Amino acid sequence: PCESGNSMPWFGMDIGGTLCKLVYFEPKYITKDEADAEVETLKNIRQYLTKNSAYGKTGHRDAHLQMDDVCIRGRRGTLHFIRFPTCEMGNFLALAKSKGMATLVTTVCATGGGAYKFEENFKKEVNLSLAKFDELDSLIKGMLYIEMTNPCECYYWCDPTDEDKCNKVPYDFSHPYPFLLVNIGSGVSILAVHGPNDYKRISGTSLGGGTFLGLCCLLTGCNTFEEAIELATVGDSTKVDKLVRDIYGGDYSRFGLPGDLVASSFGQMNSKDRRNTVSKEDLARATLVTITNNIGSISRMCARNEKIERVVFVGNFLRVNPISMKLLASAMEYWSEGTLKALFLEHEGYFGAVGCLLQFTG
Ligand code: ADP
Repeated sequence: PCESGNSMPWFGMDIGGTLCKLVYFEPKYITKDEADAEVETLKNIRQYLTKNSAYGKTGHRDAHLQMDDVCIRGRRGTLHFIRFPTCEMGNFLALAKSKGMATLVTTVCATGGGAYKFEENFKKEVNLSLAKFDELDSLIKGMLYIEMTNPCECYYWCDPTDEDKCNKVPYDFSHPYPFLLVNIGSGVSILAVHGPNDYKRISGTSLGGGTFLGLCCLLTGCNTFEEAIELATVGDSTKVDKLVRDIYGGDYSRFGLPGDLVASSFGQMNSKDRRNTVSKEDLARATLVTITNNIGSISRMCARNEKIERVVFVGNFLRVNPISMKLLASAMEYWSEGTLKALFLEHEGYFGAVGCLLQFTG
């Protein structure tokens, strides 16, 4: 039954510093009353959203993440996952207007900094009100809901340092607490989560996904995240970094530091000769490794301080980025002598958007 005030459509939006994540709930069954009442514009919007996988030049629907037959507030339906660069917000608003969103005069649930930054634009340009929710509340609510709903949401990387043996293994996260949640977006937030409504933000760093992409564009001339990851995939960071063996000629065994450990990120690049021999692929890889290892090391210190053993990494920095996931997995394992476990989630960047959709009560 459709409760009053829960009028469709249901959207959740997480407007971040780099990407805007949009989650759309498409009901499976529409009551006769709803069908009669459904205005033509809503039908059009539904069709537009669910039939396309690309919207304009920069919008994408992640069809592989779609969740069918889920239950939200007593309604069954499908969750669709859509993203576009936040800098395209102007075009998004124009599109929403041209599709007649204005005539629906509904409220859109929104979270992330953009929910504040763009609130006026939504009102003025599309006549939409935003129901604003806190981004960290939404992140946790969304991840707990998706994890409970999708049996193969949570996984870890086994044998992360072995190219051939390494693969994804499902992880049973049915008793989640306590865990550390590391959200790697443009920047990084680290939360200690002890219960569904019991968490604190314990740390963070401004050296995040945005830093990787920014530095990579500067150093290699690339223009997109996908391009940066492709370059990094074939690059060799040891041509850029100074390793323990570059300094010691081998291991620094007294303190258990192996020769292939990075002693100084980008430490070779002070030499002109070295600079002349590195490729943009090597630079992209070194940037990725530097940012990832720094996040890994801060996460480890947080886990140790909080006496928490499971660390869940989320955020779009991990999108199409197995290099970073494996690095985080192996660094966690290695430096904790096997006591820390790095966990990952399939819907990595979408939890904030899902969480704010769930909190909407009309
Ligand atoms: P935010 O909410 O701060 O935008 P996200 O969790 O969406 O954070 O992650 C943004 C980061 O994800 C970027 O800084 C970049 O490292 C990475 N990323 C992944 N895919 C893309 C993409 N298509 N465009 C831009 N950045 C991307």
